[in-house]
Amino acid sequence: MTKNEKTSKAKSPDTAKKRKKAEEKLRREKQRFRALVEHSLDIIALLNLEGIITYINPAVERVLGFKDEERIGAKGFELVHPDDMQFLADAFNTLSKDTNTPIIKREMHLRHKDGSWLTFEGVASNLVHNNVVEAIIINYRDITERKRVEDVLKKSEKKYREQSIIDDLTQLYNSIHFYAQLEREIERSNSYYYVQPLTIMMLDLDKFKEFNDTYGHAEGDYVLSRLGQVVKRCLREADSAYRYGGEEITIILPMTAREEGIVTAKRIQEELRKETFSPVLDQNIYMTVSIGLAQYQPKENMKTFIQRVNELMYLAKKDGTDRICPDRSGPKGSFIGWI
Ligand code: GH3
Ligand code: MG
Ligand code: MG
Repeated sequence: MTKNEKTSKAKSPDTAKKRKKAEEKLRREKQRFRALVEHSLDIIALLNLEGIITYINPAVERVLGFKDEERIGAKGFELVHPDDMQFLADAFNTLSKDTNTPIIKREMHLRHKDGSWLTFEGVASNLVHNNVVEAIIINYRDITERKRVEDVLKKSEKKYREQSIIDDLTQLYNSIHFYAQLEREIERSNSYYYVQPLTIMMLDLDKFKEFNDTYGHAEGDYVLSRLGQVVKRCLREADSAYRYGGEEITIILPMTAREEGIVTAKRIQEELRKETFSPVLDQNIYMTVSIGLAQYQPKENMKTFIQRVNELMYLAKKDGTDRICPDRSGPKGSFIGWI
């Protein structure tokens, strides 16, 4: 036996052993990957280039109520919400044409077997040219519960934020919010003054102290809460009302000139005239307001603007209450008078 023969004979059982070991390792790895995919909480699906599902893991039953065999051979996008369809069709097109497309990720909705819609985070990537996979692989993670919790949190946060800027009694915004909003509107008006005029109003209940003294504070509170409702229903979408002080209300009318503001002021007066208060049986009381109304002048500071509308409100009172007193219109000195 030559030296060479000796070596090859010695090597052969060793190589076979090694190969067996490698095959065993591969088999175990395959098993491990299969177990991973089959026990995954996410849905994992393989789609061929026609968009047909060639494999889907058992998670589909737990998440969407379908057995995996019900979905294999079905169209991949059958359960997708119509709102997400266009995006998915485009993404699928891109993915199937271009192997270099990075993974595509998007929030989307799939229909459960029972007809309800669930929210998913979908991740798709192209493994068509991978000899083993040869498919587009999609991973769907059910985020319905997470979205629901996020939604509840967002709503309660919004509610909390609103509660801190809303006056309990009148359900109008409070004065802190008034200053913040007016500042923003002034800034906006200064940028686009000629396109976006800005008008504010100040309302004050007439002889309210007398009402309180006669009928009691609780009845007075009721008047204030009803006044809040009247004001609210007279405003347009962009307008906002604030409880400025005890029985004083301010209103911001963005993108509104004085003349248009007067229309709103008249509407409030008219609506309040329709409201009757009966603090005592068989007695109907009507409440009135005096209203000052001013249009913002370019570069005017906020304090001056508020002072002006406040003075106009007092002028309306001095003139006999239940009046609207707008500021001067047009060139300086041309006063448009009482309304
Ligand atoms: P005028 O016509 O000049 O406005 O007279 P008035 O009595 O309405 O005004 P005055 O400023 O003398 O009185 C305002 C009253 O508003 C006094 C106060 O008792 C009442 N008031 C302020 N806040 C509240 C409130 O939250 N609830 C009640 N019931 N009354 C309030
Ligand atoms: Mg007052
Ligand atoms: Mg008053």
